[in-house]
Amino acid sequence: MRDETLAIHGGYAGESTRAVAVPIYQTVAHEFESAEQAGAIMDLELPGFHYNRINNPTVDVLERRIAALEGGVAAMATSSGMAAISQSILNACAAGDNLVATSQLYGATYTYFAHVLPRQGIEVRFAADDSAAAVAELIDARTKVVFCESIGNPAGNVIDLEAMAAVAHAQGVLLIVDNTVPTPLLLKPIRHGADVVVHSLTKFIGGHGTTLGGIIVEAGSFPFDRHPERHRCFHDPEPAFHGVSYARDFPQAPFITRCRTVGLRNTGTPLAPLNAFLHLQGLETLAVRLPRHEANARAVAQFLRADPRVEEVSFLGFPEHPDSPLARRYLGDRVPSIITFAVRGGKEAGIAAYNRVRLFKRLLNMGDAKSLIAHPASTTHRQLRPHELARAGITEQMLRLSVGLEHPDDLIEDLDQALIT
Ligand code: PLP
Repeated sequence: MRDETLAIHGGYAGESTRAVAVPIYQTVAHEFESAEQAGAIMDLELPGFHYNRINNPTVDVLERRIAALEGGVAAMATSSGMAAISQSILNACAAGDNLVATSQLYGATYTYFAHVLPRQGIEVRFAADDSAAAVAELIDARTKVVFCESIGNPAGNVIDLEAMAAVAHAQGVLLIVDNTVPTPLLLKPIRHGADVVVHSLTKFIGGHGTTLGGIIVEAGSFPFDRHPERHRCFHDPEPAFHGVSYARDFPQAPFITRCRTVGLRNTGTPLAPLNAFLHLQGLETLAVRLPRHEANARAVAQFLRADPRVEEVSFLGFPEHPDSPLARRYLGDRVPSIITFAVRGGKEAGIAAYNRVRLFKRLLNMGDAKSLIAHPASTTHRQLRPHELARAGITEQMLRLSVGLEHPDDLIEDLDQALIT
């Protein structure tokens, strides 16, 4: 099936009541037939559900659907995008290990990497820039993961994923890619070498600003058997799950199987069934929403670029964007509806415009049907020091727009009145 069809039907073959909408299985547990059957389900020898911290039929449909859209073999949904990021990192790294990351990251991801993981003994090495060469320099024998955002939020930089995968794989390191900004409808990192893809479902996939969620997708092609020393936790008998070796016993999807049975089971960040249902609703219309988001963003970006009160408009749809060649290579002629710009007159003028918008919502989200405005330096990236902001591609005066689905003229009129002359 093609993406538009998968987004509506993927992972759901109907069920006994023939409900056409995916039912919300609002239950904590599922009854066992016998002790023997319980044991077999819990050991993953039999398919089935047992306790909803670990799996749930509604969530399962969402997991199958997004795995299909990303071209992966398995997925695990989480309560938020940050839970997907932390679960995926902790699935591969333990105290004494390190991960190498690009610096153009969503603010909480950056803070988690810079200040939380090191206190758990996991070193995070930030590359000097977003190139594969800069990342390669930092990889050593204790590196387990290379992490990047396919398109950085809010920097809007595009990663050369094939080059990044090549440097990670040359040393047997996993490449984990946050694909939140483009969604699998614009870019599929697994096709370009990613081993694991993470998402905040909260953004374009949910699409309506109602529901937090995250997901981890496994490509299923990482050769764990060739790197037993580097990835011991996928080989050694796992005491948290009756001594299995994930690479040997679950070769189809060792990463997600370990993440679910060790990470999710023991730390408890599942996606609630109702929230999975809401994300499934969002996914059904994603393919028709994205072109409208993009058309509106093009109109707004052109207005801003032509306005003398504005400077430094950055939009991937502009040919002069420095990453436009990479965008064309990885996204074709599509782009996400994220724009950053600065108001002439510096930070004060930018803040004044931010405070004056009427239709754009001043809040911390993106990918909503509603148009949103953010001042990253004082909100999402508030914890970053000046040199970290610069490395993340953020200036003090930068404003970020997530352009929604309203009439573009209303959006332009709103910005026009907000920009003080
Ligand atoms: N990744 C990216 C690129 C994001 O923009 C965000 C949130 O803005 C997250 C991850 C975290 O997602 P959540 O807010 O669902 O935890």
